[in-house]
Amino acid sequence: MAAALPPVSGTLVWYYTICPRECWLMCHQLNPDEDDPNIEYGRFLQDQAYKREKKEVGLGANRIDFIDAVGGELVVVEVKKSSRALESARMQLAHYLLSLEENGVRATGELRFPDERRREAVILDDQLRKEVEQTRAAVRRLMVQPQPPPVKRIHWCRRCAYAQFCWA
Ligand code: SF4
Repeated sequence: MAAALPPVSGTLVWYYTICPRECWLMCHQLNPDEDDPNIEYGRFLQDQAYKREKKEVGLGANRIDFIDAVGGELVVVEVKKSSRALESARMQLAHYLLSLEENGVRATGELRFPDERRREAVILDDQLRKEVEQTRAAVRRLMVQPQPPPVKRIHWCRRCAYAQFCWA
């Protein structure tokens, strides 16, 4: 019997927006070498370690870095070491905001890049809600595909943990 696929988490949304093939490999537990700090997966794990110092909040399959209260409003904070994958981080945070909304909690979001002394507000408006719903649906469709999407060279390949697997 095939192993059960994981629920759509913020992490998978993040991977999907980087590279659908990488997302498929991750959600089928074909894990890359974790030890190379020069590859994106290594960086991702560093991000996770960085975050564990914070107070994470669990929400289903999601691990939210922390939730702040600013002027009576809830602010979901996602901390990243770098803004290089800004669009992916934005979609990951939008997924958290939508997950909270589905549980009756309204919140805004903020991406924080402390090493860059930078913050970006993320508001779940109609446009972003539509984008994240489409992304979730695409991740679900991807999960049940029997094979990964074909290789397609993108700028992330250079530092991707699967580069050897994809391009050897
Ligand atoms: S090497 Fe490129 S195509 Fe392969 S999983 Fe990584 S980013 Fe995707």
